[in-house]
Amino acid sequence: MKIENNQLLPQYLKFKNEYLKKVEEVLDSGWYVLGNEVKCFEEEFAEYNQSKYCVGVASGLDALILAFEALHLNPGDEVIAPANTYIASIMGFTRNGLVPKFVEPDQYYNLDPLKIEAAIGPKTKAICVVHLYGQIANMPEIMKIARKYNLKVVEDCAQSHGASINGKKCGTWGDVGCFSFYPTKNLGGFGDGGAIITDNKDIAEEVRMMRNYGSKKTYYFEKVGYNSRLDELQAGLLRVKLKHLDELTAERRKDALRYLTEIKNPKIKLPEMQFGELGHVFHLFVVYIEDRDNFMKYCNQKGIELKIHYPQPPHLSTAYEYLGYHVNDFPITEKMADHIVSLPLYNGMETEKLEYVINVFNQY
Ligand SMILES: *Cc1c(COP(=O)(O)O)cnc(C)c1O
Repeated sequence: MKIENNQLLPQYLKFKNEYLKKVEEVLDSGWYVLGNEVKCFEEEFAEYNQSKYCVGVASGLDALILAFEALHLNPGDEVIAPANTYIASIMGFTRNGLVPKFVEPDQYYNLDPLKIEAAIGPKTKAICVVHLYGQIANMPEIMKIARKYNLKVVEDCAQSHGASINGKKCGTWGDVGCFSFYPTKNLGGFGDGGAIITDNKDIAEEVRMMRNYGSKKTYYFEKVGYNSRLDELQAGLLRVKLKHLDELTAERRKDALRYLTEIKNPKIKLPEMQFGELGHVFHLFVVYIEDRDNFMKYCNQKGIELKIHYPQPPHLSTAYEYLGYHVNDFPITEKMADHIVSLPLYNGMETEKLEYVINVFNQY
């Protein structure tokens, strides 16, 4: 059997008629950038997250760049950030001249709150939290620290649409939440897209202005801005998907729970849920395994495609060579990068495939 790590086609086909209807509606409208679909999507996504404002932008990275810019920190200021993350989380603030202070992850692969205080210095002004793999980070503890040291908090929710603790969604704990709608994300569009959510009117207005050349009033420019707009087609298609998001998340969770309860192999360390099922939307199902090379070879022979998210932590990337970090500076993160693999998991994954993966894993 051939088991793909991820497939996007099944979830398109599931709601194909609704998507095609929306495409026709948008094309027939004669208006294609920053119009009614974007406005409605912003209202609906704000409502979904129970936040006051939402501003659509062109990508998740742009959401992070614009969110950090709207905090008006000074170049050289430091930002606490997880060492274990996708590199875009870091690029969002280093693009603003800010400097990462990396902190090692806890057993849930997220920023370890117990290690944050030691990394805070006089130049530390913000925390960039990432809800990695779909699991919300320990926001109650992180917010306590942020309040104690008067730090801004930006949440990178690119992998965690809808994850919550006691009903409070990711992206609403800190000052601003940043989302990606890249096709593979839990709320994925059919091209690039992103958004910020916030309760802070100034942040919302600033991002709204900066995404459109720094303009509030047509052809009058207050700042040197960007072109980072969400288009009408994406917004319309995202509105269709947003209506089904909780159903799609429940489906991912159901498959993930089968992995969690049915994979029984002492060699494979399964992920743990810190805040119950609702705290994890299983963007990825990541396991830890000592002899990864061997295991990947074995799975490959059995037709199971595994991926690694991510093989190289940001501090060891060529992009961040200028920060001067070396191997072993963040040993927990580096060990994870060397031993984790992501299992096949996607909306519309066939039950036989899921069960095949479980059997193959149990036989290893
Ligand atoms: C995907 C992703 C981003 C970037 O989103 P894009 O839309 O691809 O720019 C940022 N942070 C994390 C954690 C991501 O997974």
